[in-house]
Amino acid sequence: MQHTTTVRLVLGDQLNPTHSWFSRVDHSVLYVLMEVRQETDYVRHHAQKVIAIFAAMRHFARELSLHGHRVHYISIGYACNQHVLCANIAQLVSDCKADAFEYQEPDEYRLDAQLADPNWSLPVPRTMVPSEHFFTSRHEVAHLFVDRKQWLMESFYRTMRVRHRILLDARGKPEGGAWNFDHDNRKPWNGDPPVPADERVRRDHGALWAEIVAAGVETFGRPDETQFAWPLHRAEALEQLEAFERTTLPFFGDFQDAMSSYSWRLFHSLLSFALNTKMLKPSEVVHRTEQAWREGRVPLAAAEGFIRQVLGWREYVRGVYWARMPGYEKSNFFEHTTPLPEWFWTGQTKMRCMAQAVGQSLEYAYAHHIQRLMIIGNFSLLAGLAPEAVHQWYLGVYIDAFEWVELPNTLGMSQFADGGMLATKPYVSSAAYIDRMSDACKGCHYDKKQKLGPNACPFNALYWDFFAKNTDKLGKNARVSLVYRQLEKMDPTVLAQLRDQARTLQASLGNL
Ligand code: FAD
Repeated sequence: MQHTTTVRLVLGDQLNPTHSWFSRVDHSVLYVLMEVRQETDYVRHHAQKVIAIFAAMRHFARELSLHGHRVHYISIGYACNQHVLCANIAQLVSDCKADAFEYQEPDEYRLDAQLADPNWSLPVPRTMVPSEHFFTSRHEVAHLFVDRKQWLMESFYRTMRVRHRILLDARGKPEGGAWNFDHDNRKPWNGDPPVPADERVRRDHGALWAEIVAAGVETFGRPDETQFAWPLHRAEALEQLEAFERTTLPFFGDFQDAMSSYSWRLFHSLLSFALNTKMLKPSEVVHRTEQAWREGRVPLAAAEGFIRQVLGWREYVRGVYWARMPGYEKSNFFEHTTPLPEWFWTGQTKMRCMAQAVGQSLEYAYAHHIQRLMIIGNFSLLAGLAPEAVHQWYLGVYIDAFEWVELPNTLGMSQFADGGMLATKPYVSSAAYIDRMSDACKGCHYDKKQKLGPNACPFNALYWDFFAKNTDKLGKNARVSLVYRQLEKMDPTVLAQLRDQARTLQASLGNL
């Protein structure tokens, strides 16, 4: 191997060709990318997630080589692969007599701790450089909310809008006279307008999938290896962003919270994988969205709603993650301990909404936000599933799941396991909400209107039982005061029956 001075690590979620590292070719640098069991095995992943990350890494390595950079690629089946990042790096540093090691700021605490571990005796200096991806630094959200018990995303979002001058008028006020058009974003979808065709390019990754299987990596979900549609590089991700803006973004706002058995993606962008692997920059997504509105191509409510997700929620949850790690993953405000029913891995439940949301997660490694929050998350919280087990399922199943974004969404927003630091109230509902926002209740084995008996929708009894049993923890929360007023008015015999029904359901979650 030719003499080099610096080994630079590129992680599987750092596939950003516009990073300043790559702005010039430097032959004293050797870039290394590696497919390691450490990363495939820290949780059981959906097959498409493993394929997508490895395929994108391989593509990235090829592009770097084509541009003249020196690259060392350690594949999953490579005989000398030690399957642990530090072991492979130490070997490479020794083999090529490197005198420095550099890496980009990892987004996951696990990797950050591993690469910065003072007990890792790498014989050369190591330096962490910025990943040049986010609008904010890791600890900015924490600084903004220092000393505050509750951190409001909305305050953070407004600060970001002002700081980056997004959707502001000449006087610095929010365009359209409001910061937020959420009230326009809650329409159910009845088939009109039609969902634009999925224009994504399909690829055959059969050979890569065979390598992953041969290496013994255990996955779940449909590999879809011959019709693979997730973007593999920046150019493809930019095409998908362009197609989304042209065909889908105009309707994003209206149907952001809708669900339908006729469409698994509705008007969502499917850009989270490209964003989280850093093929796309959040700043370009936000600026292009604003531009689309300024040019009259999309309504303000759609542009604002989309920008709020990327500039607001995405940066905000990252800040919560870094403020609360390590230990956040153990949060368990309600002390829930029930394991996940087996049908989380098959989708075979008689609850049609859950069968659809879990089923499509297994099929596409994707569910949109409201399915994650108000179907799967809602059920998990009402059923008292252990939040850490729920977190591991979400971390494994979704194509975009990286802990810095998945954990606060799952534990904080959806399971209220942090006691309300991130969410102002538990996101739970009975069947009525699901029926209003989706077509899932039609044709369901369970009756959305019934609360008691074997045919009653399980969400109903579980919902009332959840609030009744958590009065000490939630009774003073102003955002759920209406629920507690309804509970007070409820006939005690009916409430007792509902709670009995909930106990029966909890004892037989696997058969629902
Ligand atoms: P769109 O609906 O088109 O939204 C556009 C973009 O906004 C997304 O690509 C994403 O980058 C960003 N965004 C939207 N909502 C959020 C949010 N709450 N937090 C952070 N970014 C957001 N998102 C992930 O990227 N990875 C996860 O592992 C993840 N786990 C989640 C778990 C739960 C329980 C919940 C409720 C949400 C989770 N989200 C996660 C947020 C959101 O559901 C996904 O970002 C979104 O569904 C991705 O699909 P999309 O690209 O089509 O998003």
